[in-house]
Amino acid sequence: MDDREAFVLGEAAALAARWLDGVRDGSIPPTADVEAVKDALGRRLPERGPAPAEVLGHLASAVEPGLMRMHSPRFHGWVIGGAQPVALGADWLVAAWDQNTALRAVTPGVIAAEELAAEWMLDLLGLPSDAEVGYVTGATVANLVGLICGRDETLRRAGWDARTDGLAGGPRVRLLVGAERHGSIDSAAMLAGLGAGRPVDADEQGRLRVDALRAALADGDGPAVVCLQAGNVHSGAFDPLADAIEVAHAAGAWVHIDGAFGLWAAAAPGLRHLTEGMAGADSWATDAHKTLNVPYDSGVAVVAHPEVLHASMAQHAAYLAAMSGASDPEDRVPELSRRARGVPVYAALAQLGRAGVGELVQGLVDAATVIAEGLAGIPGARVLNDVVYTQVCATFDGDDRTRRVGDALRAGGVALASPSEWHGRAVLRFSVSNWLTDAVEAGRTVEAVREAVAATA
Ligand SMILES: *Cc1c(COP(=O)(O)O)cnc(C)c1O
Repeated sequence: MDDREAFVLGEAAALAARWLDGVRDGSIPPTADVEAVKDALGRRLPERGPAPAEVLGHLASAVEPGLMRMHSPRFHGWVIGGAQPVALGADWLVAAWDQNTALRAVTPGVIAAEELAAEWMLDLLGLPSDAEVGYVTGATVANLVGLICGRDETLRRAGWDARTDGLAGGPRVRLLVGAERHGSIDSAAMLAGLGAGRPVDADEQGRLRVDALRAALADGDGPAVVCLQAGNVHSGAFDPLADAIEVAHAAGAWVHIDGAFGLWAAAAPGLRHLTEGMAGADSWATDAHKTLNVPYDSGVAVVAHPEVLHASMAQHAAYLAAMSGASDPEDRVPELSRRARGVPVYAALAQLGRAGVGELVQGLVDAATVIAEGLAGIPGARVLNDVVYTQVCATFDGDDRTRRVGDALRAGGVALASPSEWHGRAVLRFSVSNWLTDAVEAGRTVEAVREAVAATA
């Protein structure tokens, strides 16, 4: 039994390459369900198993029929991403290096890469250079970090120390959120003990209305957190960030921006106007696994006030504090032990460079435009949103037909879009968030939709 690491990893690389080879042209949806995959894997815990390479070979063969080809250039479900080779390679190195990335003095190699990636991101996104970055699992937790910092800081200003005294008995923190916020804001707010929040009216593209925000802020007092959105999952629209931030700050509120995929518009010269004024907020959340196309497990929490972030997140265990003077990764995230998940971000930025990141983001938007224009030429199809970013939201002759077109598209296996509901209507939502999706692939998506429409006539 050859269980040397080099041999096992070589086998894993071959299996991964086999899978990735099929991504561009293989049928997108899985063919096996969870129970079928369990059967194929074998349900019984062995007394002793075979050699590592054999386990991996069996794992890949059993699981692959149950895999969704999310990495396909014509997979437009949710807002997903698609790992670039350099970031995937770096992710493997992270696993091999096996560094617990909590303390600068302990694992300086990976923390150096993460700190540079953080500096570079702040620069690319036009955020304050003295803001701090925490690497978390995804945008849900990045939103949680921002909301907790806002909660704690606005309470502190009201004379209440949540870290010591908890929330019960203190002033109530008002949370104001756009009517079309992402569901993850609701989860984060609930975890932060802020409750459901007060929805603020949005316009026809899903952008929060500044007049409604002003009125909502005036209708109450005490600590307040305002949560804005850069990139609506249905329309791609951005809240009027500059004006909303001004109104919120005038009322003494903390401003958090959920820019899971939208923050990256700031890195593309032709799209930067969408994010105008966003640097004035107090905290931001984004995903590197979406628009930057690194593997999953790559949320990014950014907070403009390091002392607030540390006060809310740091673990003050004596044996940790003694280790180093500067702020440590564990001071900026809810976790202590974690993998060096910022390293693939470093690798992606190091390869693409400033121009490359801009071209990546612009390329996604260009492909979304190709899809929108193509759909508009299909009889019965209607694009509901102004396509300003990566999202295209379409209907096909009413709700029933729209659902059937979505089913037929999925069954065809060539392209996939998310069935959803927007403004009370069934829609099919096309999200472009994969570096592989160029104009040619976008054209293939349009053709697949045309066929799905014909099949449901
Ligand atoms: C994807 C997304 C989230 C949640 O991000 P996760 O990484 O899945 O936790 C939050 N907000 C928006 C706008 C998103 O698109």
